[in-house]
Amino acid sequence: MVKFFSLSSGSNGNCYYIGNEETGLLIDAGIGPRTIKKRLLEHGISMDSVEFILVTHDHIDHIKGLGMVAQKYSKPVYATEKLHASLDNHPCTRCRLSGCVRKTVAGQPSAYKGVVFTPFIVPHDATETVGYHIDFYGVKFTFLTDLGEVTDEVVSYCRQSNVVIFESNYDLDMLLGGSYTPELKVRIMQGRGHLSNGQAASAVKRFWHKELQYIFLCHLSENNNTPAKAHTCISKALSSIGVLPDKDIGLVCLPRRRVSDLYVFEGR
Ligand SMILES: [Zn+2]
Ligand SMILES: [Zn+2]
Repeated sequence: MVKFFSLSSGSNGNCYYIGNEETGLLIDAGIGPRTIKKRLLEHGISMDSVEFILVTHDHIDHIKGLGMVAQKYSKPVYATEKLHASLDNHPCTRCRLSGCVRKTVAGQPSAYKGVVFTPFIVPHDATETVGYHIDFYGVKFTFLTDLGEVTDEVVSYCRQSNVVIFESNYDLDMLLGGSYTPELKVRIMQGRGHLSNGQAASAVKRFWHKELQYIFLCHLSENNNTPAKAHTCISKALSSIGVLPDKDIGLVCLPRRRVSDLYVFEGR
């Protein structure tokens, strides 16, 4: 049985868990080690069963706790060479990853105890940002937490997955009518910022396929989105191609400041 849940999702911090009896991993550590430990325990998972960490990019909401977690628990940290170079100089991670550095190459699979994971570059305004395609003992996940645009590669990895974790950051009307400065609005909307509910909905129509069991919407904005708006927008897109949410496929908005429910998938 392969377990998945999020510990935190959004600009306040990102951290996601996948594991089974053999091993476990975290994707990003944007919250502190004590919170990670506590939220893992809410689903009965100990920190010992987390054996390695995959990093998507060097924005603070993804790496705030990374240095402390790596140092305290001595877990291998996988990231591209360019991202590791940036982490070497980042106040959250500087001098804290020694002995934990594991380098990956975008587009090339790496493996740890039978878990095969492939980072791939996505457009976003960090040093270098990757999504992950992860084959976890036969359950295939694709993770896309922060991206400004949906590339063909994104669609292709999602089309090979049983579970997709996909950004649905903002509702366009809420963002345009909201209190952010014009500069910040442009930063979010241009192709290296974040995905709107509408962009996520179009992507879902492109990558839906019969083996897709669950879509988890992540990184919802606190100010420019609501779980109801995101869920409705993606539900409509699925219904328009004849797929019924909660019947043919699971569709869940991951919560921002607390642990999500636990989801279990049948692996090898
Ligand atoms: Zn982020
Ligand atoms: Zn980011």
